[in-house]
Amino acid sequence: MMSSQPSSLHIAFFPYLVHGHMIPTIDMARIFARKGVKASIICTPNNASLFSKTIERDREQGYDISFLTIKFPSAEVGLPEGCEHGNSLYTEEMLTKFHKATTLLQEPLEQLLKEHNPDCLVADMMYPWATEAASSVEIPRLVFHGMSSSARCMFDCLYRYKPHKNVESDFDPFILPGLPDQITMTKLQVPPFIKEENQDAIQIFEAELNCYGVVLNSFYELEPAYIEHYRRVMGRKAWQIGPVSLCNKDNEDKLQRGGLGSIYEQVYCLTWLASKEPNSVLYICFGSRFNFSAVQFLEIAKALESSGVKFIWVVNTGQEMKSDEDNEEWLPEGFEKKMEGKGLIIRGWAPQVLILDQEATGGFMTHCGWNSILEGVAAGVPMITWPLQAEQFCNEKLVTDVLRIGVGVGAQEWTRSHERKILLRKEGIEKAVSRLMVGVEAEDFRKRAEALKEMAGKAIEQGGSSYSDLNALLEELRSIKSG
Ligand code: UDP
Repeated sequence: MMSSQPSSLHIAFFPYLVHGHMIPTIDMARIFARKGVKASIICTPNNASLFSKTIERDREQGYDISFLTIKFPSAEVGLPEGCEHGNSLYTEEMLTKFHKATTLLQEPLEQLLKEHNPDCLVADMMYPWATEAASSVEIPRLVFHGMSSSARCMFDCLYRYKPHKNVESDFDPFILPGLPDQITMTKLQVPPFIKEENQDAIQIFEAELNCYGVVLNSFYELEPAYIEHYRRVMGRKAWQIGPVSLCNKDNEDKLQRGGLGSIYEQVYCLTWLASKEPNSVLYICFGSRFNFSAVQFLEIAKALESSGVKFIWVVNTGQEMKSDEDNEEWLPEGFEKKMEGKGLIIRGWAPQVLILDQEATGGFMTHCGWNSILEGVAAGVPMITWPLQAEQFCNEKLVTDVLRIGVGVGAQEWTRSHERKILLRKEGIEKAVSRLMVGVEAEDFRKRAEALKEMAGKAIEQGGSSYSDLNALLEELRSIKSG
């Protein structure tokens, strides 16, 4: 065993079955395993296979990490057999069924916990019932938040004070009261599940109150005031142990992170990138789930072309687009030919952390998913923020208003995937691209982003804030175990 601290702790990790949650949970389990913990990742067979090579490599290096498979009740909720991954669902109806299926996992989870006897369960925020499952075998349950502390505090403020109810129009800005910074939002940017006081969502956030504590993928220096607010004002017991993506040290790990994508396409794109000048390429990716309409793709393409900036653009031309918008063109005629040498389109899965790490990558247009933001921060890359849904508008505020490492593209409203409309026009997109990549402010954004990169690296090193938080957590779990 190559662990730094011998320990007999056994921890089970149970990710929500979508990429944005599985990827950081797998990273986190690997980090714990490197600390000498026996790490068991509870996962369905198809999802486990996406990460099996990475886990196998860790095992070969002597770490005690493995999967415990659990059957996904697809048929029970009317989903096709084998359909066990949230990213492969495109209709609201399927997503509702998928979430319903996850609620049926409580009993099999309890069985697994009884059989394998871990000392602690780290389960995703999307499983509020996991605390009860952990109690059934008398072990503590930690919630894993895919969110930042700042977004979590902003959500708490929206739930608590409902400032969006005091404005007349959807466009009127209002301040989120009681937060460390003056954060403004509009009603259009507030998630519908908060505006509608959706009970499932409330249950998810309230589950934090009954569990042992919360583990977050962040680091103290990134959002200190919000981490303090979360701990002291909201009263949560929380450990920040990120950025977890930094546990991927070698290129093979980075290339296979997420387990998707063609090796040929990925290597081609990295070679292409290596031939470009430092900080000259804009990387554009809207995460693993969101899909724009063809008309919006066209606006992005036109903006890229007229900006003259080099780019790598990840597009998710999934099946739903082909069926809904069959023969609609999503790129201007001859676009790829015209852009040869200047721009590269990746259809499918990009090796994001590797791309962000490259010297040539000088900017990141992102949908503000928390993993993407943290990966951008860890690589020191300034960003163009284009929030779309979930808590992404809150993450945008952190990037543009608090950290000041990027520019907003001007996204106005919380939106659903595949809405057949233009959210932003070419002109606005082009303006943000120029501001980030060539404008006078670009250097300032880059300097601040570089400084955060350094802090992120230090946070996970011996003596750093995340390193110490992780040790403190392990210490506490050991003392619970020894009673
Ligand atoms: N990702 C990737 N390649 C892609 C798209 C996404 O590696 O082509 C990874 C990305 O690095 C991140 C995760 O998928 O770790 C997406 O998580 P995020 O929270 O940013 O967004 P979500 O997909 O949950 O909306």
